[in-house]
Amino acid sequence: LPSLLDDPSLLQTQAYVNGEWIDGADGTFEVTNPARGDVIAEVANLSREQIAGAIDGAYIAQKEWASWTGKERAQVLRKWFDLIMANQQDLAKILTAEMGKPLAEAAGEIAYGASFIEFFGEEAKRVYGETIPGHQRDKRIMVIKQPIGVAASITPWNFPNAMITRKAAPALAAGCSFVARPASETPLSAIALAVLAERAGIPAGVFNMLPSDSASEAGKEFCENPKVRKLTFTGSTQVGRILLGQAADQVMKCSMELGGNAPFIVFDDADLDAAVQGAIMCKFRNNGQTCVCANRIYVQAGVYDEFAAKLKEAVSNMKVGDGLEDGTDLGPLITTKAIEKVQDHIADAKSKGAQLILGDGETLQGPGNFMAPTIVTGATKEMKFSTDETFGPLAPLFKFETEEDVIELANDTIFGLASYFYAKDLSRVYKVAEALEYGIVGVNTGIISTEMAPFGGVKQSGLGREGSHHGIEDYLEMKYVCLSV
Ligand code: ADP
Repeated sequence: LPSLLDDPSLLQTQAYVNGEWIDGADGTFEVTNPARGDVIAEVANLSREQIAGAIDGAYIAQKEWASWTGKERAQVLRKWFDLIMANQQDLAKILTAEMGKPLAEAAGEIAYGASFIEFFGEEAKRVYGETIPGHQRDKRIMVIKQPIGVAASITPWNFPNAMITRKAAPALAAGCSFVARPASETPLSAIALAVLAERAGIPAGVFNMLPSDSASEAGKEFCENPKVRKLTFTGSTQVGRILLGQAADQVMKCSMELGGNAPFIVFDDADLDAAVQGAIMCKFRNNGQTCVCANRIYVQAGVYDEFAAKLKEAVSNMKVGDGLEDGTDLGPLITTKAIEKVQDHIADAKSKGAQLILGDGETLQGPGNFMAPTIVTGATKEMKFSTDETFGPLAPLFKFETEEDVIELANDTIFGLASYFYAKDLSRVYKVAEALEYGIVGVNTGIISTEMAPFGGVKQSGLGREGSHHGIEDYLEMKYVCLSV
């Protein structure tokens, strides 16, 4: 891997704590390339005491950082953004090597991740308060916004770069300091961000990268340490519930980006070719391993067979392989356990009467975690993917008759993150967009992520929003000052 990089010094394996590069008191843990199965790095494994030490440093550094003007913080964030973009290709290669997504997708993630740093740097200058007319003749009411304090993050492996910047950028812009525990599958992308944060001149202690192979220990320290005032998490609903429970003891503020089970609805007035393209982007991006991937594809009866045939043709042209090789559309899955889950969903659907029209969930020869993309027809709500996120390259097609039916089916889940539909009729577009119980609705598009819009879920998909001018609010406290004159 180092020989593939223009700047091999981006590939670091130590933790970045209080402006220092340190080894782990608990030794190291291995990072594996999911396309080849080989170990590509041994990364510092921090002990709980070291994590507590990092929080001490972040606590002190935060006071000074918060005293900087928004414009001063913006200038440093801008430099970080520029450095990330200048190193986009190297960062993408590191990301592909540890996570598996095709290089072009990885480069896209680096730009997407960096966009949050650019955006929130700009927002740092616009943290406006408010004055409110007094409630008595001698009273003046002022509302100011201040950083919450030390923010701690726990992030998953599916977007090793962007899930961190989406949290760190608004936190730093607001004047919080940040301690991050990256996913143990993908710490190298996270550490590379710290290398560039240091080069950009982010002061010691403000941005800390704490790899550790014990997520639960890191989570406990973040929740139990009184110097941490904010927990921000992206991952499964199951782990989100555990963390919310732990955070309750300190009544800690939490942002939670949790699981989804996105419906993707194709109405009979849709542009079918556009819907097929949208479904492919939405279902197979990152090989189905995103929380906004279509998990249930509902197609209206009149266009069901045609849609299925078109989707099958388009997906059968997709090439599965090592993300570092040219022409790869679908990389490996992250682990063999991830493959087993998809296979379980396929077997379950088959046993309940679904038909496989492409693929069979077979794994491909060789050392990596590869599997063929699979499409099933005749999907029903009794099948596992109706309630459980598949997180892999399986597209189940459900047939529906009416708008009312499909809205009921689409909303019949504990999740409420992303949803999508294709239709042309204007009144249908409005009605369905309003009726879907989701934080995000894509209409005639399969791709919705941007730093400019508020991303987040309702129901058990989460709390808070990331991106847009709303995103910085998750890292700010409101203070009301009552002045008697
Ligand atoms: P995923 O399927 O995306 O890995 P998880 O919710 O299992 O979703 O993991 C998301 C992140 O949360 C990962 O970095 C993982 O290591 C971490 N994690 C898992 N269990 C815990 C826990 N009990 N406390 C804190 N973090 C955890």
